Amino acid sequence: MSDCIFCKIAHGEIPAEVVYETDKIIAFNDLHPVAPVHVLIIPKAHLADMNELASSDQRAELMEEVLQATQALCKLYHTRSFNLINNCGQEAGQSVFHLHFHFISGVDLTQKIAAAAQA
Ligand code: AMP
Ligand code: ZN
Repeated sequence: MSDCIFCKIAHGEIPAEVVYETDKIIAFNDLHPVAPVHVLIIPKAHLADMNELASSDQRAELMEEVLQATQALCKLYHTRSFNLINNCGQEAGQSVFHLHFHFISGVDLTQKIAAAAQA
């Protein structure tokens, strides 16, 4: 998609701090990190969200790639602990409509979620 910011990153048209890449996916640092490690894992081909992934004949291959990316990032950042988050749809907080998974490590999100639930 010509006006999609993550397509532009995937095609090298705008800069990003790329930390992992294969033929099918690319992972780069989030512009506004919420944790010491906050990487976005995206397919290079445009899919708007998880619903489009679910309808795609690439779904199994892409999810396998995402799994492999998590393991590569674990090695890169010397950890086995992370949150993998997908916001699907505007009401769920999605703001960029090119499928992406937030790989977040270095903070205990469960504490934050528990605190938010009690507030
Ligand atoms: P979401 O709200 O789940 O759609 O997440 C979108 C994420 O993309 C946010 O965490 C933004 O900080 C991040 N983001 C937006 N533009 C860029 C960019 N040019 N490079 C890296 N991250 C970005
Ligand atoms: Zn896109």
